[in-house]
Amino acid sequence: MNTFNINSLIRDNIKTLKPYSSARDEYKATGTDMVFLDANENPYENGVNRYPDPKQSAVKVALAKVKNCNPANMVLGNGSDEILDLIFRAFCEPKQDNIITLPPTYGMYKVLAGVNDVKVREVFLTAAFQPNVDNILSAADENSKILFLCSPNNPTGNSFSNEAVEKLLKEFNGIIVIDEAYTDFSSQESWLNRLEEFPNLIITQTLSKAYGMAGIRLGICYASLTIVDVLNRIKPPYNVNLLTQYKALERIQDQKSVAQEIANIQKNKAQLISALENVPFVKKIYPSDANFILVQVDNADLRYQQLITKGIVIRNRTTQPLCENCLRFTVGTAVENQRLIAVLKEIE
Ligand SMILES: *Cc1c(COP(=O)(O)O)cnc(C)c1O
Repeated sequence: MNTFNINSLIRDNIKTLKPYSSARDEYKATGTDMVFLDANENPYENGVNRYPDPKQSAVKVALAKVKNCNPANMVLGNGSDEILDLIFRAFCEPKQDNIITLPPTYGMYKVLAGVNDVKVREVFLTAAFQPNVDNILSAADENSKILFLCSPNNPTGNSFSNEAVEKLLKEFNGIIVIDEAYTDFSSQESWLNRLEEFPNLIITQTLSKAYGMAGIRLGICYASLTIVDVLNRIKPPYNVNLLTQYKALERIQDQKSVAQEIANIQKNKAQLISALENVPFVKKIYPSDANFILVQVDNADLRYQQLITKGIVIRNRTTQPLCENCLRFTVGTAVENQRLIAVLKEIE
């Protein structure tokens, strides 16, 4: 069993930090007939002249209903990338601490580690793209503050085995971030249902993928009240703007459209997979729990360039560990996929 307590993982300067108290935090509204002369805003109403709710309560309540959790366990950010950065700043002492990532995986963990001057220990996934639990635990030391598990994983597309994740949650003596950006496409249960069992668990999700809102930048993190409190203390007070809060609320309350689009993407994905099976230069199609497909081809650089020439942009992942000659295809609309398939048949 892990032996840490969360407080011992928090950086000293963060523990003693007195957060900025925003204008909208200080008062308790006592009615609707109030005059707001506290925040130096322009008083003329245009829909966005007031600062947004720093706690984003309406969005959290709507999301909590859909996700069947408590709004108090959430922090919202300007994309999940902002949430990930907050986690670094809460727990990782620059030049001293390290994080563990499991390549091939999402590139932002390493970038954010660099920005925060935190070392990265890379423990490659197994050939089946699963976490190598023993190697991860032996790579960790007392300065290993965060382990990033991306499941379903980008760029491989698969989910991590529950047994491996559970063992890590029990034995890793630091924070475990499970990045569930693609969870809404997956048949695997979210770890959100087990949040209460693991005090070191942070789950991140996003409206950028299944919810179709990459442009508004809204990321979500779910964690214990202790961790939520720490992240709330360091986040910029108005990190999620008013337009984003409006748009997110609208979309979250329209689950029927979200579900319909996810179903369409699943259908398009199945069609794309069958088409790829008949492409002569495709060597392997990896199983995917997400809205993209990792494919091994004969020569990734060549095929990538050929597709660009034909006006189709995909992701070349050949330089990633364990991804030699691999291309990543995002599932598009039926029309986009038809165009892709036609081009794949054309090139040789
Ligand atoms: C796309 C993606 C995200 C999304 O980040 P946002 O900042 O919320 O848009 C996060 N994690 C992974 C693994 C992703 O692929």
